[in-house]
Amino acid sequence: MHLSPAVSINKLSFAYKNRLALQEVTIEVNQGEIFGLLGPNGSGKTTLFRILSTMALPSRGQASIFGYDVGNDSEYVRRSIGVVFQSFALDKKLRVRENLFRHGQLYGLTGSLLRSRIESVLRSLGIWERKEELVETLSGGLQRRVEIAKGLLHQPKLLLMDEPSTGLDPGARIELWRILSQLRNEQKTTILLTTHILEEAERCDRLSIMDRGRVIVTGTPQQLKKSIGGDIVSVVPFDPERLTKGIRRTFKLTPKLVDGILHIEKKNGHAFLPKLVQKFPNQIRSVTVGKPTLEDVFIKYTGHAFGGAELK
Ligand code: ADP
Repeated sequence: MHLSPAVSINKLSFAYKNRLALQEVTIEVNQGEIFGLLGPNGSGKTTLFRILSTMALPSRGQASIFGYDVGNDSEYVRRSIGVVFQSFALDKKLRVRENLFRHGQLYGLTGSLLRSRIESVLRSLGIWERKEELVETLSGGLQRRVEIAKGLLHQPKLLLMDEPSTGLDPGARIELWRILSQLRNEQKTTILLTTHILEEAERCDRLSIMDRGRVIVTGTPQQLKKSIGGDIVSVVPFDPERLTKGIRRTFKLTPKLVDGILHIEKKNGHAFLPKLVQKFPNQIRSVTVGKPTLEDVFIKYTGHAFGGAELK
């Protein structure tokens, strides 16, 4: 059975006055997948998130969610989506239960229906026993879970999350991903999230890599990494220009120079390594070989470093 896409974005552009923040973005998100928008700061992720959550209108092009246009049918769109913002939108002086109660009322939920929905989302997120606690006393990870519970209260088919891991420690990040997978598997919720963290993008079913307002490439993490022909050999040279010329001439390869490091795509990188070192014994400070990462994919398609804040 062919399901219509959960999100369909077609040649969408957006400008803040004269500054073009999105250029001809085209993306389709399938129902029931966890889809990531990966890009460094300033690549346009938040702008796209704002358009999908009906807080801003496209300057050109279209975006629709389950067939509803984000501009013309924003009322339907809002009913189909749950939104989890980057900064906490909880009332910290209220109890967990009270935060959810207020939010549910905004969606017209009342009485026993609202109470049972609150119980069910809090149970599924593992925070039912914390319902009487003040939000301000909870850890960042638990507060994020309350945010997600809020976003799910009206049973949306699509959950939009802006940088969901921001401010979470590694343990809480793992727990967050367990919850997202569970939502996808058990409730068939589609999840669209933005991230600048490469490890997080690795966990998505599919992702679009964004840079400077454009979608550079879309695919599963596996497909994207496979688009690199073999291994990545990273060389720290004494003189980048001289070594680049030497490698081009001798091996007919084209290294990419990023932040003082030469990146070379090469099948069987381990076999290539000794040849490289033997040929240029005095020109190499250090050299490593590894399987391609999403950072290598980003470099391949943009020619520059990812530069994400959390890049290791
Ligand atoms: P990201 O979420 O990937 O960091 P943003 O969508 O926030 O990217 O920003 C995309 C571009 O739009 C950047 O060049 C940024 O400087 C610009 N921008 C974002 N918000 C505004 C605004 N309110 N006014 C003008 N320019 C903005």
